[in-house]
Amino acid sequence: MEWPVIAAIFVFGAMIGSFLNVCIVRLPEERSIVRPRSHCPSCGHQIAWYDNLPVVSFVLLRGRCRVCGVRISPLYPTVELLTGALAVALWMRLGTTLAFAGYFLFAAALVTITFIDLDHRIIPDVISLPGIVVGLAVSFVSPLVTPLGALLGVLAGGGVLLGIATGYEMLRGREGMGGGDVKLLAMIGAFLGWQSVFVTLMVASLIGSIIGVGLMIYQRADTKLAIPFGPFLAGGALVSLFFGDRILAFYFGA
Ligand SMILES: [Zn+2]
Repeated sequence: MEWPVIAAIFVFGAMIGSFLNVCIVRLPEERSIVRPRSHCPSCGHQIAWYDNLPVVSFVLLRGRCRVCGVRISPLYPTVELLTGALAVALWMRLGTTLAFAGYFLFAAALVTITFIDLDHRIIPDVISLPGIVVGLAVSFVSPLVTPLGALLGVLAGGGVLLGIATGYEMLRGREGMGGGDVKLLAMIGAFLGWQSVFVTLMVASLIGSIIGVGLMIYQRADTKLAIPFGPFLAGGALVSLFFGDRILAFYFGA
């Protein structure tokens, strides 16, 4: 009985994902995310609405611009699929509630930050700073965190990473983690609470070291290979959002 609803929520999520693609491309260039409408980056042709449908258009056009045939990045449908899937997963967890809307905003922010950080090695303040405020507001309707837990989450997220970053800089004489990571973890703390800050950091470090070691072997590069930490924090936050209770219970036997 729920399948039509789930399909509708997936389509809604994928459409938001399509908008996130615009943000991912334009925010780092400080261009408007509203105007102009999407153009092919190669031939400049304005993309018609029927060629701009999430995922479907990419498949129908076989990943190429209709006019000039240039390849379209597979990252676009990836972001759309991912956002659609996250919308469904969150709805199944939270139902049709205000909290669902709040945490979907959170997930959308994490997706956007991940792909901007992968591409540009920056985490825009225009996402993370308002995100902290929105997270604190969402805590008032959230079944996952109390307002006090959210406030402590901001302090823990900002404080812990700031401490690590300062310590690293003092020891190694160069910046290891950007200020963007600190603000991102503060935003994660606002949405998920202080306990989740530690779950997020643990999961992010675990995935980060596995991928880091893999990349070092593969590229035979030295340890200076800079991998952005933002995507790992975002991944860790999602793991914490969906499985945090179980992870905490496993460690503390609660
Ligand atoms: Zn084109």
